[in-house]
Amino acid sequence: MFRLTGIAVSQGLAWGPAALLLQRHVAIRYAIAPGRVEKEIARLDQAREATAHQLHAIHARVSQTAGADLASLFEAQLLMLDDQMLVPRARSIIAGDRVNAEWAIDRAFDEFCEVFVDVGDAYLRERRGDVADVVGRLRHNLLPVSAGAGRLLVELDAPAILVADDLAPSVAAHLDRNLILGLAIETGSRTHHSAILARSLGLPAVAGVAGATKHVGPGTLVLVDGYAGEVVIDPSPAVIDEARERRDRHNSRSAAVRVGQHGPAASADGVAIQFQANVERPDDVEFARAAGAEGVGLFRSEFMLGGQAIDQFDEERQFRIYRDLVERMAPFPVTVRTFDIDESQVSRGGEEGHEGAGAEGPGLSRGPLGLRAIRLSLERRDVLETQLRALVRAGRYGAVRVLLPFVSAVDELRAARAALASAERAVSADGRETPAIPVGVMIEVPSAALTVDLLAEGADFFSIGTNDLIQYCLAVDRTDGRVAGLFDPLHPAILRVIRYVIRTARRCGRSAAVCGEMAADPGALLLLLGMGVTELSMNPAAIPAARALVQQVKLSDVRRVAARALRLPTSRDINTMLVDEFPAFASRTGGLNGRSQREGER
Ligand code: PEP
Ligand code: MG
Repeated sequence: MFRLTGIAVSQGLAWGPAALLLQRHVAIRYAIAPGRVEKEIARLDQAREATAHQLHAIHARVSQTAGADLASLFEAQLLMLDDQMLVPRARSIIAGDRVNAEWAIDRAFDEFCEVFVDVGDAYLRERRGDVADVVGRLRHNLLPVSAGAGRLLVELDAPAILVADDLAPSVAAHLDRNLILGLAIETGSRTHHSAILARSLGLPAVAGVAGATKHVGPGTLVLVDGYAGEVVIDPSPAVIDEARERRDRHNSRSAAVRVGQHGPAASADGVAIQFQANVERPDDVEFARAAGAEGVGLFRSEFMLGGQAIDQFDEERQFRIYRDLVERMAPFPVTVRTFDIDESQVSRGGEEGHEGAGAEGPGLSRGPLGLRAIRLSLERRDVLETQLRALVRAGRYGAVRVLLPFVSAVDELRAARAALASAERAVSADGRETPAIPVGVMIEVPSAALTVDLLAEGADFFSIGTNDLIQYCLAVDRTDGRVAGLFDPLHPAILRVIRYVIRTARRCGRSAAVCGEMAADPGALLLLLGMGVTELSMNPAAIPAARALVQQVKLSDVRRVAARALRLPTSRDINTMLVDEFPAFASRTGGLNGRSQREGER
């Protein structure tokens, strides 16, 4: 038994056999049920057939264009393909050890390489590269057509802990709670979208676990401790017993918090605080309602793409999704953020060539400072107008609000409003009534924060996205676990900028909600309330505890504490002060920048 440490990104405890996701070359390794052996061997044989076919074609082409000498390389590869040590060996591994075909071919290759290591002949040693090429081709041919790692995830036979070198949000969007028990990921951080999704799903997760895929084999028993940020490999029965006991204790505690959720969402001195939900998947709306959300404050619309290219989502398909959301959330409003994606999502198709086998198709990647979000929407007006028309149509069935991501200047807001006006005209051409849609601006880029008064003219409301606002104010990549300790919501600069936005918006008669992850952190929440925030949108799972906190504090107290915090020079000083003033809540602070929550949770 040994432990690896990482960043606690989603609370909870889970254990089970590991399934490995090696996203760098899109492979997944897992044990298979006895009844599946034949099917797995058939998959391998099909991949062999496809590989042989491709190699024959390459051989013929190269013979014509580059001559017989070079072409003979591919003849050699064809012989390697049928070497007893490769495909036939992988077949017997599948049958004997009951593992999936990808894993079997990798193991056969490892054995093959061991033999080459002992060979003195340099020429023969070099042939290892050719075998690797053949194996790469076989691996690629094992993938379902246009599959990304997301599709592979649903192939698992039994529930598992997913141990991954990386987990792109487009892959995480395929996570099935019935098949995946918990996550241990080598990369990532708390505000990475995969971590946000894990929290929405209630999946215990630890990110930044260096070396996890090296230390864990498929099928190894792994325990994920999403409180302590720890992954235990081969835990002893005593460790599992202790984890089970802790899990039960936490479950009963959260049930107690849920019972308390039915009072008014108001502070102890009677100030009303509104709680809405951040939603990534339409099905989470029921969960959001049950958690006490009065509306969706942020629907991250790009998640519904789930890695598919955007042109798969025409106006009708989007309209049905938005209408369904709005009807399920009625009478509360649904705030839909226009796509926050980059070009790869718009232009790349799902097909990958052999060379591209390492890439995960179109993903939810968003070049942090490039052509993304509102910038991309304005560049691709067809995409923006399609989305806006679908939203305007959905607005006939309930309260819809549009939220623009990554706005950095007034011109972008004006252009987006013009696009909305055009969408409204197009939809109302049928003569039916189309209610006006309020337009909000995400405050997540420093230039937007500093020009809230100028944006207020064209914006009906604001929503502060602290995840990006912190990353851009502090110059800390939110997805890079190595600098997670610098991602600091209590940094004096962050408190100042938030206070400025809240005050200025209020002066201009506009509401400013907070929808970043910061609001789910007890200490940070106290400060937000103290700085005048009265509208919060957060992961539904975090609402009951945040609501219970609000009900127990007086706004007059948190205002005083926030005023003091704003005069302190470091986040450490602020944290210490919070712990002194509110020992019951603030001792649990700190999850946002990766500090362990173990002390507060045990
Ligand atoms: C944010 O940036 O704070 C936010 C809410 O949006 P996202 O996490 O999707 O970037
Ligand atoms: Mg953002």
